[in-house]
Amino acid sequence: MKQFEKNDNSFVCVWCKKRVPELKYSSRDHCTHCLASLHIDVNPGDRANECCGILFPIDVTISGKKGYIIQYKCSKCGKLHNNKSAQDDEFSTILKVMNKTYSPLDYKNEK
Ligand SMILES: [Zn+2]
Ligand SMILES: [Zn+2]
Repeated sequence: MKQFEKNDNSFVCVWCKKRVPELKYSSRDHCTHCLASLHIDVNPGDRANECCGILFPIDVTISGKKGYIIQYKCSKCGKLHNNKSAQDDEFSTILKVMNKTYSPLDYKNEK
C-alpha cells in the first residue's frame, strides 16, 4: 500500500485518490477532502507505527485554542487517534463527521 508522503509534501490520498497539496504551516497528516489518514505515527511525525491501517474520522471536537480536533479510529487495529484539523480541510466533511452522517464509502475513489 502506498503511504502518505509526510514532511509536508503533496500526496495522493490513499482512499479517495484526490491530490492533496502541501500544507504551508505544518506537516500534513490527513486528506483535506475525505479526512482519511494513515496509522503510521505513534507520536506526530515519527512514523514509528507499523500498523499502516487507514484512519477514518469518527468524531470532531472543538478546542478553543487549537480549533477542530478530529478523532480517528483505525480501520485495522481499532486504536483511537487524534489529529488537529488543517485550515483548508473541507468544512462540509467536518460537519458530516460532527453530525455523524460521515461514511468513508461516500468518498472512495470519487465514484
Ligand atoms: Zn481523501
Ligand atoms: Zn492501526
